[in-house]
Amino acid sequence: YAAKADRSGVVVHSPDLDRHDPAQLGLFGDLRRGIRDGELRVHYQPKATLADGRVIGVEALVRWDHPQRGLLPPSEFIGVAETTGLIRTLTDVVLGRALGDCRRWRAEGAALSVAVNLSARVLLDTALPDRISGLLAEHGLPADCLELEVTESAAMQDPGQALDVLQRLRALGITLSVDDYGTGHASLSYLSRLPVSTLKIDRSFVSTMEVDGTDQVIVRSTIELAHALGLRVVAEGVETRGTWERLVALGCDEAQGYWLGRPGPAEDVLARVAAIEASTSGGVVLSAGA
Ligand code: C2E
Ligand code: MG
Ligand code: MG
Ligand code: MG
Repeated sequence: YAAKADRSGVVVHSPDLDRHDPAQLGLFGDLRRGIRDGELRVHYQPKATLADGRVIGVEALVRWDHPQRGLLPPSEFIGVAETTGLIRTLTDVVLGRALGDCRRWRAEGAALSVAVNLSARVLLDTALPDRISGLLAEHGLPADCLELEVTESAAMQDPGQALDVLQRLRALGITLSVDDYGTGHASLSYLSRLPVSTLKIDRSFVSTMEVDGTDQVIVRSTIELAHALGLRVVAEGVETRGTWERLVALGCDEAQGYWLGRPGPAEDVLARVAAIEASTSGGVVLSAGA
């Protein structure tokens, strides 16, 4: 397999790829082709304030519309994109789509922001801030349209460099958040030095908080901690009305999850935002968005 990999020339472009794993090699070639052939799709999931149920932004979530395998979730291909460096091209595609879609929503009167996920390899790229400021200028969008989500573990791969890049992104006026909070190993002292404005509590705590007392304690104390540090808190994975109401009671700022709506294509976003806001009363979403 290694010999075959060497002959194909793949290793030249992807020094980290496991040359002995034919499945990974096949997936790498297929993904590279898929990106080139325009098979990536970006779906958007709404995020709303818990106080009044207003949709303030959406998160961009990539999918791969594979010609044989159908629409694939990120878990099927983000890993190989990360190990091979294709993640840079993939992220540029997602950023470009997200900003283009955001500009169209704004033109139709919806002041939504769009959040894009960054892998470690992208976060640690010192050319990222310049590339993003170029993209914003190209789309004629202010920096506060864009939010970037990074995980604790991505930042911890190189804490110094991550801090440097994040500070430059923040200086551009971009909103930064810590994704999947509670699943990584970053120390509180490090996290408190990051120029982030938001913590997103991982859905593994949120989706079970109604039935698991420990998870509810974790969610409640994370909200208190974040607020004490001057951060906003988003709960991910809100799947039921009960969880939504509990989070309102705990003073959480924003929520995202299947209860409000599943990720969907850009064309549907404005109609879904209107439907969610029409069903919202006093912070209670009366019917699920999707
Ligand atoms: P994430 O950034 O934490 O995104 C939230 C994930 O939770 C999404 O899965 C979303 O569909 C799912 N989700 C949202 N609400 C609920 C809910 O109520 N219940 C449950 N069970 N799940 C919910 P998805 O789209 O499969 O994405 C998975 C992960 O893939 C993302 O987690 C993110 O880490 C990564 N990802 C997605 N798009 C990109 C991208 O463009 N670049 C990078 N680097 N990573 C991405
Ligand atoms: Mg995210
Ligand atoms: Mg998350
Ligand atoms: Mg995640």
